Amino acid sequence: MITSDLLKKAAAGERLTPAEGLQVYTEADPEAVMAIAHELRLQRTTPGLVTYLIDRNINYTNACTTDCQFCSFYRVPGHPEVYVLDKQQIGAKVEELLAWGGTRILMQGGHNPALRIEWYEDMLSWLKATYPEIDLDCFSPSEIENIAHLETMTMEEVLARLHSAGLDGLPGGGAEILDDEVRGRISPKKTKTAQWIHAMRIAQRLGMTTSATMVIGFDETMEQRISSLTHLRNLQDESLSSHGNGFTAFIMWTAQLSETNSLGRSRHRHKYGAGYDEYVHTNAFARIYLDNFTNFQASWPTQGLDTARRTLFAGSNDFGSTMLEENVVSQAAAYTQQEQRMTVHRLHEQIRMAGSIPAQRDSRYRIVRSFDHVMTPAELAPVPIPTRLDGLQERAAQFIPVAGL
Ligand code: SF4
Repeated sequence: MITSDLLKKAAAGERLTPAEGLQVYTEADPEAVMAIAHELRLQRTTPGLVTYLIDRNINYTNACTTDCQFCSFYRVPGHPEVYVLDKQQIGAKVEELLAWGGTRILMQGGHNPALRIEWYEDMLSWLKATYPEIDLDCFSPSEIENIAHLETMTMEEVLARLHSAGLDGLPGGGAEILDDEVRGRISPKKTKTAQWIHAMRIAQRLGMTTSATMVIGFDETMEQRISSLTHLRNLQDESLSSHGNGFTAFIMWTAQLSETNSLGRSRHRHKYGAGYDEYVHTNAFARIYLDNFTNFQASWPTQGLDTARRTLFAGSNDFGSTMLEENVVSQAAAYTQQEQRMTVHRLHEQIRMAGSIPAQRDSRYRIVRSFDHVMTPAELAPVPIPTRLDGLQERAAQFIPVAGL
């Protein structure tokens, strides 16, 4: 089929095969791809609304044994800068989030061999008991695989135990490009494609919230990007048809290179990374190709606000989250390093600049509140809450200590 006919097929909302997708991605005018993606977004989500989440990342440990070449965040066990956050520290972060009206924490960390499954269960059950109104979307398939490896368990067993302890969702971090040739080059010790997909399959069967991600700019081929998206699309088909609980959203960004990671220092650095136009184009293509996904998130922390707003006209219907704290991509010179924090008022401003109405959502993309009229900074400012950490020190004896860092 000629490319213009494939664009008509895409505009009609029909599924493209991988070969057809490749043709549209590589041969069609990016402006035409973006226009179709925008139309599909308007058809599949509420036109005029752009959603966002009030949440925060909590990076509970930076110790990691996996040595991904694009990572500036981790420290090897034994390094003087290794840390593990305790309940007091994590609780203080959650309380700050509650003051902002937040509904979710995204807790992620390195593959720390000193943390056993009981540490995770203890932390989750304490968080769930202390802050029941907060969704706990934590870890990623590679962290689950790491715990399974340490405990000589299956990922099914690990996820079932963590879910019982309070885990609500498994975020889609660590997908990068779901192609084992790429993964073998940039993160040879990390979860392979089949295991990443399998962890998500299990989490979805357990009824957990999950998201799908892709990171471009690892010198992957266009075919490998299509293949990565096809893996996501296939699992989404499988989950939606068998139990109805698929990925809530698709989020992509570009590899973040700097002198603080191996890829950024590589003599082949020129081969890595991707520009803003390529990001917007790829996001638009993904909206077309992933015809069984509803929500697409713009990534302002990695692309900056101007590009994120452009993405709202290239398939995205969601502006991500306030991300009161982020320590992973920001270590590699991403936008958050300069921006530090995104307030709710600032998020509203960005969404209104794109001509849309801001709507706060939860982690399942259910609308919490939409804002028909412009809110002042004071109306969107945090409202401190009474602490629930009193007595934590006295109760510390019952908590599981971390040894061997
Ligand atoms: S990306 Fe994650 S798994 Fe890889 S080195 Fe960094 S912390 Fe470890």
